[in-house]
Amino acid sequence: MGTENIVVTCTDCGFRESFSTLRDARVALAEHESTTGHTADWEINGLAPGVEQAGADAGVCGSPECGNSESPLLEWDTPDDKP
Ligand SMILES: [Zn+2]
Repeated sequence: MGTENIVVTCTDCGFRESFSTLRDARVALAEHESTTGHTADWEINGLAPGVEQAGADAGVCGSPECGNSESPLLEWDTPDDKP
């Protein structure tokens, strides 16, 4: 059984999906945004709000090879930036 703690939701449509890994959530979110032009968001259950906020704001490291893709502190690498 997986613990699906990361929920990706879209504010522009009813898209909602949960994932057990941050990697999958990131991919799904980026894909949804790039294919639909919507603005999707994510929430991480089971983490302290401060950690979740840190993950959302991130930017702690601009380097793609800065290691841990499971870390909520890794910056988004969406193909096109939000306006
Ligand atoms: Zn959507």
